[in-house]
Amino acid sequence: MSRVAELIRQTFGRLTRRYSVMVHAGPDSGLKHYTLPAVVIPVLLAVLLAGLVGGGLAVLRWTGDRMDRNHVAHLENENARLADQIQDFRRTVQVFESRMQEAQQLEQEFRNLANLEPIPDEVRRLGVGGPRPFTELQDEASPSPVVREARESLDRLEDLNRQVEFQQANFQEMIETLEESRSRLERIPSISPVATGAFSSGYGNRVDPFTKRTTMHRGVDFSAWTGTPVYATADGTVTKAGRQGTLGLLVEIDHGGGIETRYGHNSRVLVKVGQSVKRGDKIAEVGSTGRSTSPHCHYEVRVDGHHVNPWRYILDGGPRRNGA
Ligand SMILES: [Zn+2]
Repeated sequence: MSRVAELIRQTFGRLTRRYSVMVHAGPDSGLKHYTLPAVVIPVLLAVLLAGLVGGGLAVLRWTGDRMDRNHVAHLENENARLADQIQDFRRTVQVFESRMQEAQQLEQEFRNLANLEPIPDEVRRLGVGGPRPFTELQDEASPSPVVREARESLDRLEDLNRQVEFQQANFQEMIETLEESRSRLERIPSISPVATGAFSSGYGNRVDPFTKRTTMHRGVDFSAWTGTPVYATADGTVTKAGRQGTLGLLVEIDHGGGIETRYGHNSRVLVKVGQSVKRGDKIAEVGSTGRSTSPHCHYEVRVDGHHVNPWRYILDGGPRRNGA
Protein backbone atom coordinates (compact mmCIF):
# COMPACT_ATOMS: atom_id res chain seq x y z
CA MET A 1 0.00 0.00 0.00
CA SER A 2 1.33 3.49 -0.92
CA ARG A 3 2.02 6.18 1.73
CA VAL A 4 -0.74 8.40 0.34
CA ALA A 5 -3.36 5.68 0.48
CA GLU A 6 -2.24 4.90 4.04
CA LEU A 7 -2.59 8.60 5.05
CA ILE A 8 -6.12 8.78 3.55
CA ARG A 9 -7.12 5.64 5.35
CA GLN A 10 -5.83 6.92 8.70
CA THR A 11 -7.55 10.31 8.36
CA PHE A 12 -10.85 8.75 7.23
CA GLY A 13 -10.58 6.26 10.08
CA ARG A 14 -10.19 9.16 12.59
CA LEU A 15 -13.15 11.07 11.17
CA THR A 16 -15.45 8.07 11.14
CA ARG A 17 -14.36 7.16 14.67
CA ARG A 18 -17.13 7.86 17.15
CA TYR A 19 -16.86 9.33 20.63
CA SER A 20 -19.18 8.47 23.50
CA VAL A 21 -20.37 11.28 25.78
CA MET A 22 -22.24 10.66 29.04
CA VAL A 23 -24.32 13.48 30.50
CA HIS A 24 -25.68 13.41 34.03
CA ALA A 25 -28.94 15.40 33.44
CA GLY A 26 -30.43 15.27 36.98
CA PRO A 27 -31.33 12.94 39.82
CA ASP A 28 -34.45 11.64 38.00
CA SER A 29 -33.06 11.31 34.54
CA GLY A 30 -29.96 9.34 35.45
CA LEU A 31 -27.19 9.13 32.97
CA LYS A 32 -27.79 10.01 29.30
CA HIS A 33 -25.52 8.47 26.75
CA TYR A 34 -24.66 10.10 23.39
CA THR A 35 -22.32 9.10 20.66
CA LEU A 36 -20.81 11.73 18.40
CA PRO A 37 -18.90 11.20 15.18
CA ALA A 38 -15.30 12.52 15.41
CA VAL A 39 -15.95 14.92 12.52
CA VAL A 40 -18.11 17.09 14.83
CA ILE A 41 -15.10 18.13 16.99
CA PRO A 42 -13.27 20.29 14.38
CA VAL A 43 -16.63 21.76 13.28
CA LEU A 44 -17.40 22.78 16.89
CA LEU A 45 -13.90 24.21 17.30
CA ALA A 46 -14.29 26.26 14.09
CA VAL A 47 -17.66 27.65 15.24
CA LEU A 48 -16.18 28.57 18.64
CA LEU A 49 -13.19 30.32 17.01
CA ALA A 50 -15.48 32.28 14.63
CA GLY A 51 -17.58 33.37 17.63
CA LEU A 52 -14.52 34.55 19.52
CA VAL A 53 -13.11 36.55 16.58
CA GLY A 54 -16.51 38.13 15.80
CA GLY A 55 -17.06 39.09 19.46
CA GLY A 56 -13.57 40.56 19.73
CA LEU A 57 -14.11 42.71 16.65
CA ALA A 58 -17.43 43.98 17.98
CA VAL A 59 -15.80 44.96 21.31
CA LEU A 60 -12.99 46.78 19.47
CA ARG A 61 -15.47 48.68 17.32
CA TRP A 62 -17.55 49.73 20.29
CA THR A 63 -14.55 51.07 22.21
CA GLY A 64 -13.36 52.83 19.02
CA ASP A 65 -16.69 54.62 18.62
CA ARG A 66 -16.63 55.57 22.25
CA MET A 67 -13.10 57.03 21.88
CA ASP A 68 -14.15 58.95 18.76
CA ARG A 69 -17.10 60.44 20.60
CA ASN A 70 -14.80 61.50 23.47
CA HIS A 71 -12.35 63.02 21.03
CA VAL A 72 -15.06 65.01 19.26
CA ALA A 73 -16.38 66.30 22.60
CA HIS A 74 -12.83 67.32 23.57
CA LEU A 75 -12.33 69.12 20.25
CA GLU A 76 -15.66 70.90 20.60
CA ASN A 77 -14.64 72.07 24.05
CA GLU A 78 -11.31 73.27 22.82
CA ASN A 79 -12.95 75.04 19.88
CA ALA A 80 -15.31 76.92 22.18
CA ARG A 81 -12.37 77.96 24.36
CA LEU A 82 -10.39 79.16 21.36
CA ALA A 83 -13.40 81.13 20.11
CA ASP A 84 -13.57 82.85 23.52
CA GLN A 85 -9.88 83.62 23.39
CA ILE A 86 -10.23 85.08 19.90
CA GLN A 87 -12.99 87.35 21.25
CA ASP A 88 -10.66 88.48 24.05
CA PHE A 89 -7.90 89.05 21.53
CA ARG A 90 -10.25 91.15 19.39
CA ARG A 91 -11.23 93.32 22.37
CA THR A 92 -7.55 93.81 23.25
CA VAL A 93 -6.80 94.89 19.68
CA GLN A 94 -9.69 97.40 19.92
CA VAL A 95 -8.23 98.84 23.12
CA PHE A 96 -4.83 99.19 21.44
CA GLU A 97 -6.44 100.91 18.48
CA SER A 98 -8.11 103.54 20.64
CA ARG A 99 -4.88 104.09 22.59
CA MET A 100 -3.05 104.54 19.30
CA GLN A 101 -5.60 107.16 18.24
CA GLU A 102 -5.04 109.01 21.52
CA ALA A 103 -1.29 108.88 20.98
CA GLN A 104 -1.73 110.27 17.46
CA GLN A 105 -3.88 113.13 18.78
CA LEU A 106 -1.24 113.92 21.40
CA GLU A 107 1.39 113.90 18.70
CA GLN A 108 -0.61 116.38 16.59
CA GLU A 109 -1.02 118.68 19.61
CA PHE A 110 2.70 118.43 20.25
CA ARG A 111 3.39 119.28 16.61
CA ASN A 112 1.15 122.36 16.94
CA LEU A 113 3.02 123.49 20.05
CA ALA A 114 6.41 122.94 18.42
CA ASN A 115 5.32 124.75 15.22
CA LEU A 116 5.78 121.58 13.18
CA GLU A 117 3.65 120.73 10.15
CA PRO A 118 0.82 118.33 11.03
CA ILE A 119 0.96 114.91 9.34
CA PRO A 120 -1.81 114.55 6.73
CA ASP A 121 -4.09 111.53 7.16
CA GLU A 122 -3.12 110.19 3.70
CA VAL A 123 0.53 110.07 4.72
CA ARG A 124 -0.38 108.38 7.99
CA ARG A 125 -2.40 105.76 6.08
CA LEU A 126 0.47 105.13 3.65
CA GLY A 127 2.36 103.40 6.41
CA VAL A 128 -0.58 101.04 6.95
CA GLY A 129 -1.96 98.36 4.60
CA GLY A 130 -0.01 96.28 2.08
CA PRO A 131 0.57 92.52 2.12
CA ARG A 132 -0.59 90.55 5.13
CA PRO A 133 1.90 88.23 6.77
CA PHE A 134 -0.65 85.63 7.92
CA THR A 135 -0.94 83.78 4.58
CA GLU A 136 -1.70 80.34 5.98
CA LEU A 137 -5.00 81.71 7.31
CA GLN A 138 -5.79 83.38 4.02
CA ASP A 139 -5.29 80.27 1.90
CA GLU A 140 -8.43 78.70 3.24
CA ALA A 141 -11.25 79.20 0.73
CA SER A 142 -14.28 79.63 3.00
CA PRO A 143 -13.15 80.13 6.58
CA SER A 144 -15.45 79.70 9.54
CA PRO A 145 -16.62 82.88 11.34
CA VAL A 146 -14.13 82.19 14.14
CA VAL A 147 -11.22 81.89 11.71
CA ARG A 148 -12.40 85.04 9.89
CA GLU A 149 -12.50 86.91 13.16
CA ALA A 150 -9.01 85.69 14.10
CA ARG A 151 -7.66 86.72 10.70
CA GLU A 152 -9.26 90.15 10.89
CA SER A 153 -7.83 90.76 14.36
CA LEU A 154 -4.37 89.67 13.24
CA ASP A 155 -4.57 92.07 10.29
CA ARG A 156 -5.54 94.91 12.60
CA LEU A 157 -2.69 94.00 14.92
CA GLU A 158 -0.29 94.14 11.98
CA ASP A 159 -1.69 97.61 11.08
CA LEU A 160 -1.07 98.69 14.67
CA ASN A 161 2.48 97.40 14.47
CA ARG A 162 3.10 99.54 11.39
CA GLN A 163 1.49 102.56 13.03
CA VAL A 164 3.83 102.16 16.00
CA GLU A 165 6.83 102.04 13.66
CA PHE A 166 5.54 105.14 11.85
CA GLN A 167 5.00 106.86 15.19
CA GLN A 168 8.55 106.06 16.31
CA ALA A 169 9.95 107.59 13.13
CA ASN A 170 7.76 110.68 13.71
CA PHE A 171 9.02 111.17 17.23
CA GLN A 172 12.62 110.73 16.09
CA GLU A 173 12.07 113.43 13.48
CA MET A 174 10.39 115.74 16.01
CA ILE A 175 13.24 115.30 18.49
CA GLU A 176 15.79 116.13 15.80
CA THR A 177 13.83 119.22 14.72
CA LEU A 178 13.44 120.43 18.30
CA GLU A 179 17.13 119.85 19.06
CA GLU A 180 18.00 121.80 15.93
CA SER A 181 15.77 124.72 16.86
CA ARG A 182 17.04 124.64 20.45
CA SER A 183 20.61 124.76 19.18
CA ARG A 184 19.61 127.61 16.84
CA LEU A 185 18.05 129.51 19.78
CA GLU A 186 21.11 128.94 21.93
CA ARG A 187 23.19 130.52 19.19
CA ILE A 188 21.15 133.74 19.19
CA PRO A 189 22.49 136.43 21.59
CA SER A 190 19.89 137.06 24.28
CA ILE A 191 21.58 138.29 27.48
CA SER A 192 23.59 141.27 28.62
CA PRO A 193 27.41 140.79 28.37
CA VAL A 194 27.83 142.09 31.95
CA ALA A 195 25.59 141.23 34.89
CA THR A 196 26.46 144.33 36.88
CA GLY A 197 27.14 147.83 35.58
CA ALA A 198 25.30 150.72 33.99
CA PHE A 199 24.25 151.50 30.46
CA SER A 200 26.42 154.47 29.49
CA SER A 201 26.27 154.91 25.73
CA GLY A 202 23.80 153.75 23.07
CA TYR A 203 24.04 152.53 19.50
CA GLY A 204 24.05 155.08 16.67
CA ASN A 205 25.40 158.57 16.00
CA ARG A 206 26.94 160.35 18.97
CA VAL A 207 29.58 162.94 19.75
CA ASP A 208 32.90 161.14 19.97
CA PRO A 209 34.40 161.74 23.44
CA PHE A 210 37.90 162.09 21.89
CA THR A 211 37.32 164.08 18.66
CA LYS A 212 34.10 165.86 19.79
CA ARG A 213 32.72 165.12 16.31
CA THR A 214 29.52 163.23 15.47
CA THR A 215 30.45 159.65 14.71
CA MET A 216 28.69 156.29 14.47
CA HIS A 217 28.85 154.23 17.68
CA ARG A 218 28.52 150.61 16.51
CA GLY A 219 27.68 149.08 19.85
CA VAL A 220 26.42 149.80 23.33
CA ASP A 221 28.61 150.61 26.34
CA PHE A 222 28.11 149.41 29.90
CA SER A 223 30.35 151.08 32.47
CA ALA A 224 31.50 148.61 35.13
CA TRP A 225 34.33 148.09 37.58
CA THR A 226 37.58 146.73 36.18
CA GLY A 227 37.57 142.95 36.59
CA THR A 228 33.78 142.59 36.28
CA PRO A 229 33.11 139.32 34.39
CA VAL A 230 32.17 139.59 30.70
CA TYR A 231 29.93 136.76 29.49
CA ALA A 232 29.34 135.16 26.09
CA THR A 233 25.78 136.18 25.17
CA ALA A 234 25.12 132.99 23.13
CA ASP A 235 26.77 129.67 22.15
CA GLY A 236 29.48 129.98 19.52
CA THR A 237 33.14 129.78 18.57
CA VAL A 238 35.79 132.37 19.47
CA THR A 239 37.19 133.99 16.31
CA LYS A 240 39.27 136.79 17.92
CA ALA A 241 40.90 136.98 21.34
CA GLY A 242 43.49 139.74 21.72
CA ARG A 243 44.48 143.33 21.00
CA GLN A 244 42.48 144.92 18.18
CA GLY A 245 43.25 148.64 17.64
CA THR A 246 40.88 151.10 19.26
CA LEU A 247 38.79 148.31 20.85
CA GLY A 248 41.79 147.22 22.97
CA LEU A 249 41.66 143.65 24.23
CA LEU A 250 38.81 142.23 22.17
CA VAL A 251 36.85 138.98 22.10
CA GLU A 252 34.86 138.14 18.98
CA ILE A 253 32.49 135.16 18.81
CA ASP A 254 30.92 133.60 15.71
CA HIS A 255 27.48 132.18 16.55
CA GLY A 256 26.74 130.71 13.11
CA GLY A 257 23.81 131.75 10.93
CA GLY A 258 25.66 135.01 10.15
CA ILE A 259 25.56 136.30 13.75
CA GLU A 260 28.70 137.60 15.51
CA THR A 261 29.26 139.44 18.82
CA ARG A 262 32.24 141.55 19.92
CA TYR A 263 33.31 142.57 23.44
CA GLY A 264 35.87 145.41 23.63
CA HIS A 265 38.19 147.30 26.06
CA ASN A 266 38.71 144.25 28.34
CA SER A 267 41.45 144.16 30.98
CA ARG A 268 41.87 140.38 30.52
CA VAL A 269 40.84 137.89 27.86
CA LEU A 270 40.08 134.38 29.18
CA VAL A 271 39.43 132.46 25.92
CA LYS A 272 41.45 131.39 22.87
CA VAL A 273 40.66 131.55 19.16
CA GLY A 274 38.84 128.36 18.06
CA GLN A 275 37.41 127.70 21.52
CA SER A 276 33.72 126.74 21.78
CA VAL A 277 31.76 128.74 24.32
CA LYS A 278 28.27 128.48 25.78
CA ARG A 279 25.92 131.32 26.63
CA GLY A 280 26.90 132.64 30.07
CA ASP A 281 30.54 131.45 29.93
CA LYS A 282 32.96 134.01 31.38
CA ILE A 283 35.18 135.08 28.45
CA ALA A 284 36.90 138.26 29.69
CA GLU A 285 37.08 140.90 32.41
CA VAL A 286 36.04 144.54 32.05
CA GLY A 287 38.87 147.03 31.54
CA SER A 288 39.75 150.25 29.75
CA THR A 289 42.19 149.06 27.06
CA GLY A 290 42.20 150.70 23.60
CA ARG A 291 40.51 154.04 23.03
CA SER A 292 38.63 154.31 26.30
CA THR A 293 38.26 156.96 29.02
CA SER A 294 37.02 154.70 31.81
CA PRO A 295 36.44 150.96 32.44
CA HIS A 296 33.47 149.73 30.39
CA CYS A 297 32.31 146.88 28.16
CA HIS A 298 31.75 147.85 24.53
CA TYR A 299 29.33 145.29 23.08
CA GLU A 300 28.55 144.82 19.36
CA VAL A 301 26.21 142.49 17.49
CA ARG A 302 26.67 141.91 13.76
CA VAL A 303 24.22 140.13 11.49
CA ASP A 304 25.46 139.11 8.03
CA GLY A 305 28.38 141.53 8.43
CA HIS A 306 26.22 144.55 9.35
CA HIS A 307 26.13 146.16 12.77
CA VAL A 308 22.73 146.15 14.47
CA ASN A 309 21.51 147.69 17.71
CA PRO A 310 22.57 145.18 20.41
CA TRP A 311 19.60 146.16 22.59
CA ARG A 312 17.46 144.07 20.25
CA TYR A 313 19.44 141.07 21.48
CA ILE A 314 19.47 141.90 25.18
CA LEU A 315 16.33 140.20 26.43
CA ASP A 316 17.19 140.06 30.14
CA GLY A 317 16.75 143.83 30.67
CA GLY A 318 20.47 144.66 30.81
CA PRO A 319 22.89 144.69 33.75
CA ARG A 320 21.85 145.43 37.34
CA ARG A 321 22.96 148.89 38.46
CA ASN A 322 24.88 147.88 41.57
CA GLY A 323 28.34 147.52 40.13
CA ALA A 324 29.22 151.00 38.81
ZN1 LIG B 1 31.55 151.63 22.81
